[in-house]
Amino acid sequence: MKSIALAVAIAAIGDTRALSPALQCALNPAAFEPMRAPGPNDWLANHPEAGQTFDDFVRARPNRPTPRRHTIYLQPLGTFELGPLKEFTEAFFMMPVVVRAPIDLATARITSRKNPYSGQEQLLTADILNFLRGQLPSDAFCMLGITTIDLYPDPSWNFVFGQASLRDRVGVYSFARYEGQARRSCKVIAHETSHMFGIEHCIFFRCAMNGSNHLSESDARPMHLCPVDLRKLQWSVGFDVIERYRRLRTVCERAGFADEARWYEREIERCGKS
Ligand SMILES: [Zn+2]
Ligand SMILES: [Zn+2]
Repeated sequence: MKSIALAVAIAAIGDTRALSPALQCALNPAAFEPMRAPGPNDWLANHPEAGQTFDDFVRARPNRPTPRRHTIYLQPLGTFELGPLKEFTEAFFMMPVVVRAPIDLATARITSRKNPYSGQEQLLTADILNFLRGQLPSDAFCMLGITTIDLYPDPSWNFVFGQASLRDRVGVYSFARYEGQARRSCKVIAHETSHMFGIEHCIFFRCAMNGSNHLSESDARPMHLCPVDLRKLQWSVGFDVIERYRRLRTVCERAGFADEARWYEREIERCGKS
């Protein structure tokens, strides 16, 4: 499988001429890395996706935050250290983030099992999504369950990293397979929460929204959005792109994500004066 032609990737950004100079600068494809040709075990070699251009996204009439529904809720299942997750999510989406008190799994009646092969404790995703659906606050744009316990979607499955219902605006994601690794957890939250905005997997550039088939592919994925997906999120939320980069730079510096902080710094330098 070949990598996507650069002209196709650039066309996916759409016509940016009516946008502010800073946003036009931030969407300049020359500042981004084109998608690489996938290896045999990589996502795109196994899940051929057509890609979602900015115009496709707008035409799909995705769920958008409104003045009434503008908060992202994080619902921990069980007790664990969140690290920079709340601040990172706030900066990434430029929306208020509320972390709810941890749920006690027994009283929430969530089915669990011991994985038949590994013996590891696992929670049934359908029960968690049902529970979250019943808890969704009226000002929620979406609510994401997060846990360090492993998940399974169905008794016949070994495990799943997460599952979501876009229509119900709820999702659940497990950090069990990379516990204590703040950078990976932040990347998962950025990727999965972006799906809640109707942003699909990215095939155009190296991007936080690239699909991934295995851990080394997720690790290779950048934390930032490519111009196609940055434009989608900006259209949805309406933030100032430089202000967002400043906040992300600060969060990444504090969290010790040095490469990411440098990337944001470079973009601020490049477009902050336009
Ligand atoms: Zn995904
Ligand atoms: Zn992208």
